Amino acid sequence: MYFAYIRASTTDVRNPPELEPACREVPDDARRWSRRRAKRARLTCARCGLDFRRHIGSDPAAVAFEVTGPDTLPRFECGGCQPDLLAALTAAVATLPEPLPREASA
Ligand SMILES: [Zn+2]
Repeated sequence: MYFAYIRASTTDVRNPPELEPACREVPDDARRWSRRRAKRARLTCARCGLDFRRHIGSDPAAVAFEVTGPDTLPRFECGGCQPDLLAALTAAVATLPEPLPREASA
């Protein structure tokens, strides 16, 4: 299975962050792993511990952002812990063009 996340550039308060969708492959049985194992595999928020496996595709605040941690290493934090990035993502999505209208069924 795939773990989708948003790669975020280091936040500079003067500029909007650069957001890039990304994903990485995780083993198919990752959903059944223990919490501790999921944490080691970086499938939980590094700040609040939110388990991304439980929230995939449901809660916008549970979007995983890859950010630079205090130790300068990349780590994942959820949208709830990164409200500015979540707001920037929401704003970016809002600028997408409308999808093509569906053909009226004959
Ligand atoms: Zn969090």
